[in-house]
Amino acid sequence: MIKVENLQKKFGENEVLSGITTEINKGEVVAIVGPSGSGKSTLLRCMNQLEELTSGTIWIDDQQLNDSRTNVMELRQKIGMVFQHFHLFPHKTVLENLIYAPMKVKGVSKEEAESKAHQLLEQVGLSLKADEYPKRLSGGQKQRVAIARALAMEPEYMLFDEPTSALDPEMVKEVLDVMKLLGTTGMTMVIVTHEMAFAREAADRVLFLDEGNLVEENSPSEFFNEPKTERAKAFLDKVL
Ligand code: ADP
Ligand code: MG
Repeated sequence: MIKVENLQKKFGENEVLSGITTEINKGEVVAIVGPSGSGKSTLLRCMNQLEELTSGTIWIDDQQLNDSRTNVMELRQKIGMVFQHFHLFPHKTVLENLIYAPMKVKGVSKEEAESKAHQLLEQVGLSLKADEYPKRLSGGQKQRVAIARALAMEPEYMLFDEPTSALDPEMVKEVLDVMKLLGTTGMTMVIVTHEMAFAREAADRVLFLDEGNLVEENSPSEFFNEPKTERAKAFLDKVL
């Protein structure tokens, strides 16, 4: 479980998160939605210690992220992250991208890492691309490789920051389909997204952020059909 308690994040004087409290339970798929600049990426990045918290606490299972006694590197291995812009290693093949961290960070043998990588490439529909370089792949294929690469570390949690926002429209579905499938396997997922149809269909819960506040937290059907606040209504009027 990821537990966020009264999380505040400032950049200089700019308060970007104003006391967020929520929990992500094991096996849940949670969508984070909200206007641009509302703090969605920052919240996700705090969960992975890519940003330091200004105040408040985050627990990953029973370990506190922002505690000097916690081994952050070890804790981070539990959490896979997928970004808008793929971040693949350009000079490595798809297979090399997938086996690098398991071998380097976890000390997995090459044979084992490759066997796992092939299995993951099959899962994301890219078995035939193992020896290809990223530049020869479409955006949708690159993002599916990025998902497979994150999964190669066998994380317990997967964080996605607008994974389809940089893609041409015709490639969005292939990535969302991979994510949907992953959700059905019981993976715990937190997904910042502008894809409202996806959030409605695939998420167990929706968090609506506005100006650094967690304004609504609800089931997709309630959030989309009966938003409780004017701010959520105004947001949904714009995006639906
Ligand atoms: P969202 O993902 O919802 O669009 P962000 O979390 O990226 O929002 O940003 C929230 C606010 O924090 C914005 O005002 C943004 O300019 C500011 N911000 C984000 N990252 C930084 C940073 N590294 N330094 C300074 N300000 C930042
Ligand atoms: Mg963002």
